[in-house]
Amino acid sequence: MRYNVDREHLHAFLRDQGLTEAEINILSIQFAHSGVQFGLSDRTRASYRPYTRTINIYTHANLPAQVMNVSFLHELRHHMQVMRQTIDLEWLNLPYRERPHEIDARLFADQHKNVVLIF
Ligand SMILES: [Zn+2]
Repeated sequence: MRYNVDREHLHAFLRDQGLTEAEINILSIQFAHSGVQFGLSDRTRASYRPYTRTINIYTHANLPAQVMNVSFLHELRHHMQVMRQTIDLEWLNLPYRERPHEIDARLFADQHKNVVLIF
C-alpha cells in the first residue's frame, strides 16, 4: 500500500503546534515495509538524537491509513519533544510503556487522531 502525506496540512498543523519553519523543514518522512516496529529507534542513547531527524514509520504492508496516521502523529510528537529538548535520556532506562515521552506521544496521537495527515 502506498501512503500519501498531506504536506500542506502537515506544515500548517506543525506551525499550529509551535514549530518553526526550520524545525519543520528538517523533517524527513520515510515509509518502509521492512518490519513491524513503528517509529524512531531509541535502542541506544548515542543514536537517539541523530535518528530523530528522520521519521521512519515501519509497518506491515496494507495497514489502514487511519492506523498509520495515528502512528505518524505519535512520531511527530517525538519530533516536537526533541526540538523542545523535553526528553530526559534517563527515561530510556524505563520500560517502554512507562517512559514519560512515550506516554505523552500516545496521549498526543489520541488527542489529534481526527487530524488526517496520511491517507
Ligand atoms: Zn514512541
